[in-house]
Amino acid sequence: MMNANEKVHCLIIGSGPAGYTAAIYAARANLKPVLYQGMQPGGQLTITTEVENYPGYPNGIMGPQMMVDFEQQAQRMGADIRWGMATKVDFSVRPFKVEIDEEKWIEADSVIIATGASAKWLGLESEQRLNGHGVSACAVCDGFFFKGQEVAIVGAGDTACEEALYLSKLCSTVHMIVRRGEMRASKVMQDRVLKTANIKVYWNSETLEVMGDNKVDSVKLLNNKTNEETIVPVKAFFVAIGHQPNSSLFNGILDMDDQGYLITQPGSTKTNIEGVFACGDVQDKIYRQAVSAAGTGCMAALDAERYLGAMGLH
Ligand code: NDP
Repeated sequence: MMNANEKVHCLIIGSGPAGYTAAIYAARANLKPVLYQGMQPGGQLTITTEVENYPGYPNGIMGPQMMVDFEQQAQRMGADIRWGMATKVDFSVRPFKVEIDEEKWIEADSVIIATGASAKWLGLESEQRLNGHGVSACAVCDGFFFKGQEVAIVGAGDTACEEALYLSKLCSTVHMIVRRGEMRASKVMQDRVLKTANIKVYWNSETLEVMGDNKVDSVKLLNNKTNEETIVPVKAFFVAIGHQPNSSLFNGILDMDDQGYLITQPGSTKTNIEGVFACGDVQDKIYRQAVSAAGTGCMAALDAERYLGAMGLH
């Protein structure tokens, strides 16, 4: 292993609401945090449009702008924000070692992981082309824009059911596309969906294409039992087929559940390695909101500060 090029007190990996909030708190606590932004600076909010449910923005705010605001606030507090990816970690030594961009190693007394999660997509060309123009992976973020309209949602897990129910309260009809003859979601969620009059379930159905020139106007489905194709007119197409936590860097190093979400001790951001903390969506498969991610980012910085103090490192 190369020698470390630099030694820092508190290293933050990731730049969504969790990472930047951790940076704001860590900087104000004089931990002199260094934050590496990762592949998608600003995280998942940079691919959404308007955010109307983040407290403190009475008129709403565009997701990308909100992340610029977070970054500037962290910078103003003195956080050192850098472009770069963590490419390897060694948590078996102290200080910990984190490789950046496969070219340099940083030593860190404490590490805060805020690498987030990524929505899974079907992989259709039309889905990518119309992303942000009616195609969305977040009903809670974008459902409101389709009030009173017909929308489609693909997926059959708890998230898809929850989002279909959310949409059913806003939209005239929710067309729910399920690829098998049954749903993976818990029984109680399925029952709620099936009892909701304005949710229409399409069983054994695959999405062939999301249609529309500049915005979604319909979806083309294939029933894989009857081979019948159907075109359903909709204004939006929501993808709810699961999320992937961005945790592969920590495989075999940090405790994770069977889906790869990092496990933190209840009521804290502590991982199984003392001095390594995790916050935001990489450790949260349930709430996944900007405000809840920011909340755990704050907790991670406070946990790191206490840890450094207890170890006599701060
Ligand atoms: P899941 O992995 O549970 O479900 C994903 C769903 O998407 C499955 O129905 C799957 O179909 C479907 N799917 C996957 N790929 C495709 C594809 N290419 N085309 C069509 N459909 C596809 O993810 P969730 O996000 O729903 O849930 C993640 C975890 O979080 C679960 O453990 C869930 O229980 C939990 N959760 C709990 C909630 C609650 O308790 N209120 C709320 C939200 C999540 P198939 O079944 O055929 O594989």
